[in-house]
Amino acid sequence: MTQAQPQTPQQAIHKVTRNDLPLSCPRPGEALDGLHPRVYLAIEKTGSVTCPYCGARYQLSE
Ligand SMILES: [Zn+2]
Repeated sequence: MTQAQPQTPQQAIHKVTRNDLPLSCPRPGEALDGLHPRVYLAIEKTGSVTCPYCGARYQLSE
């Protein structure tokens, strides 16, 4: 198994770092800005999180 297939090709995973914490969606200046009210996501607990509003997936990279 050498290739990793994305489980949901329609949703790109947004890579974030600890410098981006606290993580909010939409992120300031991003294309999603204005899509829904800004919500803060507790990504530091699990290392990845999905926005309950727009389904955007975020992954924390060290
Ligand atoms: Zn969102």
